[in-house]
Amino acid sequence: MQTFTKQTLRIFWQHAKKYPWHVFGISAGVVGHLLLNNYNPILFKKVVDILSVGSAKTNLEPVFKIITLMFFVSLTRMIFARSYNFLNNFFQPRVMADLNNTCFNYLQKHSYAFFNNSFVGSLVTKVKRYERAFEQIADQLIFELGKTFLETLIILVVIFLQNTTMGLILLTWAILYIIFSYYYSLYKLPYDIKRAAADTQVTAQLADSITNNVNIKTFSNFTFEENRFAKTSHTQFKLRKKSWDLGTIGDIIQAFSMIVVHFILLYLALKFWQNDIITLGTIVLLETYLFRLFDKLWNVGKNIRVIYEAMADANEMTEILIKPLEVTDVPNAQKLAVKSGAIEFKNVSFGYHKDQDVLNNFDLAIKPGERVALIGPSGGGKSTIIKLLLRFFDLNGGEILIDGQDIYKTQQDSLRAQLSLVPQDPILFHRSLIENIRYAQPEAKDSEVVKAAKLAHAHEFISSFPDGYNTLVGERGVKLSGGERQRVAIARAILKDAPILVLDEATSSLDSESEQFIQDALKSLMQGRTTIVVAHRLSTIMQMDRIVVIDGGKIVEQGKHEELLKIREGLYQRLWEIQAGGFTAA
Ligand code: ADP
Ligand code: MG
Repeated sequence: MQTFTKQTLRIFWQHAKKYPWHVFGISAGVVGHLLLNNYNPILFKKVVDILSVGSAKTNLEPVFKIITLMFFVSLTRMIFARSYNFLNNFFQPRVMADLNNTCFNYLQKHSYAFFNNSFVGSLVTKVKRYERAFEQIADQLIFELGKTFLETLIILVVIFLQNTTMGLILLTWAILYIIFSYYYSLYKLPYDIKRAAADTQVTAQLADSITNNVNIKTFSNFTFEENRFAKTSHTQFKLRKKSWDLGTIGDIIQAFSMIVVHFILLYLALKFWQNDIITLGTIVLLETYLFRLFDKLWNVGKNIRVIYEAMADANEMTEILIKPLEVTDVPNAQKLAVKSGAIEFKNVSFGYHKDQDVLNNFDLAIKPGERVALIGPSGGGKSTIIKLLLRFFDLNGGEILIDGQDIYKTQQDSLRAQLSLVPQDPILFHRSLIENIRYAQPEAKDSEVVKAAKLAHAHEFISSFPDGYNTLVGERGVKLSGGERQRVAIARAILKDAPILVLDEATSSLDSESEQFIQDALKSLMQGRTTIVVAHRLSTIMQMDRIVVIDGGKIVEQGKHEELLKIREGLYQRLWEIQAGGFTAA
């Protein structure tokens, strides 16, 4: 798996630098806080030095002066700390929200194929992890690692000024310690990335299995799913354990080096004191500083690890954010202008996989206002033709023209604005019915929505709900039946009022009443529009001006119902005989 550390940091920085004054204020606050924080032990050293010579017994005045100063130092330090906290309370949540928006906007622009190849659940997790990753990295850089680095620097300088030998020993140790922590974390990084990938796998499988809960029940495959999930979570367990074990081993090495350097420095300090090279106060200062230093540096390895773990978490989203969009407008793409609604597929070649064409030199011309039914056996390429007309994919060759304009050279939004699509199995937002219908035209008045719903024969069932148009439809629209969802989709298409209508007819056997409703709805919808219908029902096919029989990505027959029936041994005739009364092939 590739790592995108640099790209992640660049994206985070691009978002953070929009708030330069906050970044500056927080940094200045941290520096001020740390300088004051390490000034107090120096003052206290002076207190100890005065107390150790004994003269203070008669005159405490100088000592009182020092502790008064310490009081004001602490007070100022607190003001610094709380100020940068307030700045940060704006900074981090704001940047996290900005990142969320960036992820949301870019994700939505990815292609139809991209979403077909991704798990919804894991995409959601990736976005959630991304903002968390920023928070953790910012915390580390500002408050943990940043502070540790500065504090170490200050302490080293002060110890050096007190005694060069001790300063050198501490400096050498600190350098070795930090180098070790850094490289150990790098060594551990690949294990962290694998762990993150395993987490994603678990989440994705969880989402997929929960979505397919009905399938699991109907096929009584609980044990199969249980084993499958247990296997994934066992992999996650093993990778987690490996990554945690490596963490513990690093801790052991760090702790050992601290114990040793502490002993050496204290031993030396006592020797120097004995020879009057340093004072008692310096020993107290050294011990205070060492205590702080160890406390801060103890976490360096963990902090670096948190950064890298956050990087690993962010990796997958960065990959999506730097991935070029699959389907894009050509430079200077024009708006599609539809006057009459003529559609022409010219020499179109397309395949979902490189070496396998679904359509090969496919030609089909549809006159303005013509109503065409696409029929044929399942897998023939009917839905693909519709997806290409909507430009969900790019072509391998040929062109598709609407009123003479190559749709792949026009703006995608302007193309889709001219097409009304009623998909085979419409998905609805988990919002109210009125919002779902109005989606086609956000400015539509309530009365217009109701009018469209009436034409689509959706008004009848909507009014029968206690909450009417305000009924929430459930995730993906599950609370409605297939026929009801389709009528909502038809109402939406009526409201959109686009010149070209594209319909992938539902195969689900609708009861004859809702079929009648849908036929009526379709009739009003097709009025005066160029229409392409992937048709299964005879009642729909009979309404059409032309029937195009598609098999293996090619047009094998076309004409009117009666003409096609006359073709001896024709595919239409055969399908007709198998399914007298209607075509139900998907
Ligand atoms: P129809 O609608 O006529 O049943 P489709 O256009 O859906 O046929 O499918 C045509 C061929 O393309 C089939 O072989 C199908 O397996 C394949 N196909 C359809 N959608 C995809 C996809 N998203 N990825 C890969 N192959 C696909
Ligand atoms: Mg299909």
